[in-house]
Amino acid sequence: MPTVVNKAKTNKETAENYISQVFEMIKKRNPNEIEFHQAVKEIFDSLVPVFEKHSTYMEHSILERISEPERVISFRVPWVDDEGKVRVNRGFRVQFNSTIGPYKGGLRFHPSVNASIIKFLGFEQIFKNSLTGLPIGGGKGGADFDPKGKSDGEVMRFTQSFMTELSKHIGPDIDVPAGDIGVGSREIGYMFGQYKKVKRGYEAGILTGKGIGYGGSLTRTEATGYGTVYFVEEMLKDKGLSFNGRTVVVSGSGNVSIYAMEKAAHLGATVVACSDSNGYIFDKNGINVETVRRLKEIERKRISEYVKEHPSAEYHEGCSDIWLTPCDIALPCATQNEIDEKAAKILIANGVKAVGEGANMPSTLRAVEAFQQNEVLFGPAKAVNAGGVAVSALEMSQNSMRLSWSFEEVDSKLKEIMTNIYRNSVEAADKYGHPDNLVVGANIAGFLKVADAMIEQGVI
Ligand code: GLU
Repeated sequence: MPTVVNKAKTNKETAENYISQVFEMIKKRNPNEIEFHQAVKEIFDSLVPVFEKHSTYMEHSILERISEPERVISFRVPWVDDEGKVRVNRGFRVQFNSTIGPYKGGLRFHPSVNASIIKFLGFEQIFKNSLTGLPIGGGKGGADFDPKGKSDGEVMRFTQSFMTELSKHIGPDIDVPAGDIGVGSREIGYMFGQYKKVKRGYEAGILTGKGIGYGGSLTRTEATGYGTVYFVEEMLKDKGLSFNGRTVVVSGSGNVSIYAMEKAAHLGATVVACSDSNGYIFDKNGINVETVRRLKEIERKRISEYVKEHPSAEYHEGCSDIWLTPCDIALPCATQNEIDEKAAKILIANGVKAVGEGANMPSTLRAVEAFQQNEVLFGPAKAVNAGGVAVSALEMSQNSMRLSWSFEEVDSKLKEIMTNIYRNSVEAADKYGHPDNLVVGANIAGFLKVADAMIEQGVI
């Protein structure tokens, strides 16, 4: 029936035209924000089949609305260094979308932080948080502060100053920050203390990732790394594969990486390499995760120190070369755009079977394309690393109820959440005509819940 074919084509063209017009407007309105453009492009491209089927989202200008943060806060963070000199950093909090819950998302302290980085992270967080199935909106924040080489006192003074301003904009039912790169349990502790000092009353649910002694949730530390492996395990299982006996490369050596390595090893894999921003270590017999954890989390040393304790391992300067290491499963758990097209092609040539993104947007758009064209199982960040924020939402529930669940209880909830995210992403990909494409599936599943709620709530 030629008329139907023509109509379908027209719908597709209309959808593509609308999406590309909005994307051009976003680029114009947010000049030079390349990471933000990249994150928006990935989502928008995935949504063509949705807009093709349902004109209602276009009629309600959903893309124009969802890509514009509800609020962007930028502020001065003055602090005094150990020499007595006054230093100034720039702090941010992007409150992107509160349709399905209070803004939720981490804080990143890293010299690369700017409006584009925080906006891309905040934008991704909307869809990631929606995928968890829990009532949390999307937000992100941070500062261009470099914690590397700073004393404990300097980190505390900076962090307190940061929270003095941030405290004016957050609340347990408004916006609940957590950690990200450069913000771990030490920084969360200092921020919690400062928040308590400037506010009246004890608001346990103001931050997540807290210490266990004052409202933190068991399993939160492990959640992003464990969740990453749980997701990839599901992805492998569907194809009759598993972690057992496989060689795994995990970039990074922070919180996500450490617990992804631990869980992968627990499932019978050999983790042969991990990295920090200076270089990477390789041991064909398997990395000792406990040594990495102590060096990085407790002693705050460089990964190069590892080989002093494990002479069988090699240290290589330059972190991006970690992708030259042949492996069956690659888990990029360091930072954005750490796998470019070239690195992806090397991984493919070396026979990689699955890639799971533990970090936020670690693969460039071209790298993702390369994986998909070569039939590498590919798990996108929003779905794969959602376990961290999911357990943060469970921490908020426990704080509201003033009780705490056991490690096993939270871990089993995490596993269930990761399995559901996987299933929902597969279903959405199938339903919208892109079977096996988890990028499309996760983006669509995350989008629909928020977009429908936005329509139900009127023009907000
Ligand atoms: N920073 C983490 C993320 O990218 C966790 C956020 C949270 O727990 O709120 O999802």
